[in-house]
Amino acid sequence: MREERFDVVVAGSGIAGLSAAVAAAQGGARVVVLERAPRDERGGQSRYTEAYLRMKSEAEVTDDFETHIAANGSGAIDPDLVMELARPPSDRAPYARALGIVDPDVLQTFSERAGPTIAWLKGFGIRFDFLPTQFLTKSQPRLLPVGGGLAVVEALAAEAERLGVAFRYETTARELDQDDEGRVTALVARDADGTVRFAGQVVLACGGFEGNGEMATRYIGPRAVHLRPICKGGYFNRGEGIRMALDIGATGAGEFGSFHAEPVDPRSGVSEPSVFIFPYGILVNKDGGRFVDEAPGTVDAHYERVTRRIFEQRDGIAWVVLDARHTRIPNYRLGIRTDQPPVVAESIPALARALELPEDRLAATVAEYNAACRPGAWRPLELDGLATEGLLPRKSNWALPIDEAPFHAYPIMSANVFTFGGLQVDAGARVVDGDGRPIPGLYAAGEIIGMYYGTYTGATSVLKGMVFGRIAGEDAARPRNS
Ligand SMILES: Cc1cc2nc3c(=O)[nH]c(=O)nc-3n(C[C@H](O)[C@H](O)[C@H](O)COP(=O)(O)OP(=O)(O)OC[C@H]3O[C@@H](n4cnc5c(N)ncnc54)[C@H](O)[C@@H]3O)c2cc1C
Repeated sequence: MREERFDVVVAGSGIAGLSAAVAAAQGGARVVVLERAPRDERGGQSRYTEAYLRMKSEAEVTDDFETHIAANGSGAIDPDLVMELARPPSDRAPYARALGIVDPDVLQTFSERAGPTIAWLKGFGIRFDFLPTQFLTKSQPRLLPVGGGLAVVEALAAEAERLGVAFRYETTARELDQDDEGRVTALVARDADGTVRFAGQVVLACGGFEGNGEMATRYIGPRAVHLRPICKGGYFNRGEGIRMALDIGATGAGEFGSFHAEPVDPRSGVSEPSVFIFPYGILVNKDGGRFVDEAPGTVDAHYERVTRRIFEQRDGIAWVVLDARHTRIPNYRLGIRTDQPPVVAESIPALARALELPEDRLAATVAEYNAACRPGAWRPLELDGLATEGLLPRKSNWALPIDEAPFHAYPIMSANVFTFGGLQVDAGARVVDGDGRPIPGLYAAGEIIGMYYGTYTGATSVLKGMVFGRIAGEDAARPRNS
């Protein structure tokens, strides 16, 4: 087996891996980045994201940042164990450090280090601004890097190259080596010529398992057959990082049976062909019936829950049915990212025929919905409380009758933006074992850190990569840190 020696070995060249590589190189370490994709496709999911960041300024996260993550930070849990986590880390019972739930220290570090990490990234020429998003209504601000995730990937990769970081493309990390004391000493990888052992402290930044149908089925269940990654970058993330760490005793964290769901047009092959216009129409399934409140609140806060209900429908598909009014919403195109045209018809029965939905049932569904709409002021860019009456499920906002031709429809399925299951880390991005102790020489950063349960705290995943990537790189660059 070939062997190469470095101080720090990073798996993955997304935002997390590149943040780690640059931080470690700044700390004086000799660093290598292993990346399964060819150079032109480096950057994984990070390459494709617009990279919304849940921040109210370049210096501060939003007011709800910690409470939202904490409220969605575990499954069902014994309240005594939650109390245990309120104690200082050194006083906690060991089992409490390996519960796989969001550790308050990790969360505090995440929140505190976000602003300084943005300032650090600006040093590489990356600019941030509050740019328009695809959400026509929102409850929290989103800061964006100008040029999206790709701009961050390119700037960090250029900085890494300038600092002398070595890159090995088309090289797939497969397993961890440990010494007799349990310290991780190397990452073993495969390239076109065979097996290579990369010696050094290891940072796993190789994403989740959205690109691995077998793991998705094993953890999410058989319905995962109706899911697909939201962009081509997701197909590179096949879960090896999670598996190899679990194999040496790491603690899993995050809801393994879940994922971040986003509504997309199944007809499209572009990255993130989202359809966020559904609050202004009705959603119907293959039987032509409604099944969910399409507009329970602002779209940024509720689209994931609505999309999960679409995922539950027969064959994982639904259609949004709209009338001509939606085209009069200012900037309504922001909420429709698909490159595919709507299916358009002059009547609801004609629309049903075009969609191959049961004609009578769709007509009855629309008629029933229209009859439940009440007069009132329609204010499409704010919560207007214009709700249906006497209809189940109700529609809570923007409930105008669907009666003005032409009628439009888009098919919608749930994309798997990323999987929730991953690894537990401490506030230093060190991977924690089943007894709550850091595994020496092993770090994790980005999507591979398991943190989410239930509802995703939107616009925190890229930030997680940046913040914990940088922390991991800084710490791994310190000699013989454990
Ligand atoms: C279209 C889209 C929109 C999104 N929007 C947002 C948003 O607005 N805000 C937000 O916070 N999050 C968003 N997300 C999620 C976010 O982009 C990702 O969670 C984040 O970019 C992950 O960064 P990462 O570095 O951990 O992983 P990635 O960027 O996926 O990088 C992982 C890298 O590891 C490589 N790799 C995988 N396995 C191996 C292996 N075994 N060996 C070597 N290399 C390997 C992959 O090829 C990839 O380059 C979005 C995601 C997508 C796809």
